[in-house]
Amino acid sequence: APLPPRSDQRRDRTAGFVIVGGGIAGVTCAEQLSALSPDDPVTLLSASPLIKSVTNFRQVGRALEEFDVEEKTTGALQKACPNVRVVHTQVRAADTDKHEVYTEDGETFPYTKLCICTGGQPKLITKDNPYVIGIRDTETVQHFQQKMANARRVVIVGNGGIALELVYEIEGCEVIWAIKDDSIGNTFFDRGAAEFFLPHLTAGKCEENKPLKRLKYTVTESSSDSPKKGDTAMGGALGPDWKDGWRMKGKHDQAAHRVQVEYQCEVQEVLTREEFTRTGQTAECFPGTSRAEEQNDDWPVYVLLTNKRLYGCDFVVSATGVVPSTGPFLHNDQFSVAPDGGLRVDDHMHTSVPDVYAAGDVCTASWEPAPQWFQMRLWSQARQMGSYAAKCMVADRDGEDIDMDFCFELFAHVTKFFNYKIVLLGRYNAQGLGKDYELLLRCTKGLEYVKVVLQAGRMQGAVLIGDTDLEETFENLIVNGMDLSPYGEDLLDPNIDIEDYFD
Ligand code: FAD
Repeated sequence: APLPPRSDQRRDRTAGFVIVGGGIAGVTCAEQLSALSPDDPVTLLSASPLIKSVTNFRQVGRALEEFDVEEKTTGALQKACPNVRVVHTQVRAADTDKHEVYTEDGETFPYTKLCICTGGQPKLITKDNPYVIGIRDTETVQHFQQKMANARRVVIVGNGGIALELVYEIEGCEVIWAIKDDSIGNTFFDRGAAEFFLPHLTAGKCEENKPLKRLKYTVTESSSDSPKKGDTAMGGALGPDWKDGWRMKGKHDQAAHRVQVEYQCEVQEVLTREEFTRTGQTAECFPGTSRAEEQNDDWPVYVLLTNKRLYGCDFVVSATGVVPSTGPFLHNDQFSVAPDGGLRVDDHMHTSVPDVYAAGDVCTASWEPAPQWFQMRLWSQARQMGSYAAKCMVADRDGEDIDMDFCFELFAHVTKFFNYKIVLLGRYNAQGLGKDYELLLRCTKGLEYVKVVLQAGRMQGAVLIGDTDLEETFENLIVNGMDLSPYGEDLLDPNIDIEDYFD
C-alpha cells in the first residue's frame, strides 16, 4: 500500500514537537530538536522521574561510538535546552487525527509532530509469578538485588547481553543458566568466541584487571518523585555498566561463581513447591554436588526445562528480550506493527501515521537496510535513532530533503563482556549471508579472538575480542568493499601491521 503522507501541512506549528519517553532515544531526540529548532516548543513526556542522557560521547571510528549514560533530573535538561519542557507523566492514549496525546492525569498535549520513544518491557517467561523477575530499570535491579541477598541458587533464562553479564557477575550463589542455543552468548558471538569465554564462567575474577567503571546510576529511593502507584510504564532501560555499583552476591560466603549451563533447552514450566511435590519427581542436585551435600533441597520454586531436568531455586531471572511498549498508541489500529511488536518506521523514522515518528526500542526499522546494517535494541541505536528522528521531524516540517545518517550504513557496537572489550562490526555473525561465506580466525587463548567474515573476497563483518586495535581498519575495509582475496590469511597475520598494509 502507498505510504501515507509524512505530514499534514494544515497543522498549526504552535503546538510544537512532543516526545513520549525519557530514555536515551527520547532525550537525544529532544536535545537534537532543541539544537535544530531552538525557537519551537518541545515537550518531553516521561513516566520516569529521572531521564537518561548521553555524556562523554566519543566517535571512535566511522560508525563506532562510545559514550557514558547519566541519569539526570528533568531540570538539568530544561536548563541545557531552554525550549524543552519536561513533564513527568504517563501517556495513556493518542488521537492521531486530532494530533493530541492524553495522559493518565487527564491532561491533553497537542502536537505538530510526535515522536514515540517509549522503549520496551522485559519479555517474561511467565506473567505475575513473584519468583520470576525481569531486569529493565533501576527499580527492577533493586528488586533483583533484594532477592539475591538471600539466594543460594538462581536460574537464569536467556542468552543475550543481560544474561551474559549476570552469569559473570553473580557470586556466592549457584547459577543454572538455561539457553536455547548450543553455545553461550550467541546473540553477540559464535561458538568459537563462546569457547574463548567458557573458562571465564567459573574462573575467579581478577579484580585488579577490572576496567575503571564509567557510569554510575543514581539510585532514587522511593520518594515523592517516584512513579505514582499503579503505574504500568517502566523506567528507562539500563545500559552499559548497569551492574556496576550493584551487589550481586548470594548467600554463600565464597566469592566463586558456580555455573551450570543447560544448552538447547527452554523453560517448560515454573512450579510452586506444592506443584513440584505433586509431580512426585526428584529435583536435580547442582552438578558436582551429591544429594548428601545438598543440605536443603526445599526450594520456593522449581523450574522444569524442556530437556526434562528439574531444578529447585530461589528465583528465576527471565532475560529473554524485550517487548516494545506500544500499548497507549494501539487503540485504533492506525499504526502498522511489525511481527516483533515494534512500531514500523520508514527511512525517516516515520511511522505509518502522518506526523508520528518513533525511535529506539519501541520501533522496528522497516526500510531496506544497507547491506551491513541491521537493527538491534541497543543504547547506540537508541541514540542514533533519536537524533536522526529529530532531524527528520524538522526537515519534514520545513519540506526539506534529508539523507540518512552514516551510522545506518554499518552495524557497529562496542561493549564489554567478561571484562573483555568486544567490537562487533557489520554482519559479524554472517547474519543473512546464507552459506556462501568464509571465516578467518585468529585466537590467542585468554588474550584475544578475532573473526572476519568474508563474502566474495569482501569483508562483511568482524568480531574483535580483546585489545586488538583492528576496529578502525576493519570498519574502513567493510565500508569500502575492497576485494581482499589477494591478501588471504595475511589479513590476520599478527606480524603484519595491517594499518600500514592498507595505507
Ligand atoms: P527506554 O530506555 O526503555 O526508555 C523508555 C522511556 O519511555 C522511559 O523513560 C519510560 O519511563 C518512558 N515511557 C514508557 N511508557 C511511557 C508512557 N506510556 N508514558 C510516558 N513515558 C513512558 N544496550 C547496550 O547498547 N549496551 C548494553 O550493555 C546494554 N545493557 C543493557 C542492560 C540492561 C539490564 C537492559 C535492560 C538493557 C541494556 N541495553 C544495553 C539496552 C538499552 O538499554 C536499550 O536498548 C536502550 O536503553 C533503549 O532506549 P529507549 O530510549 O528506546 O528506551
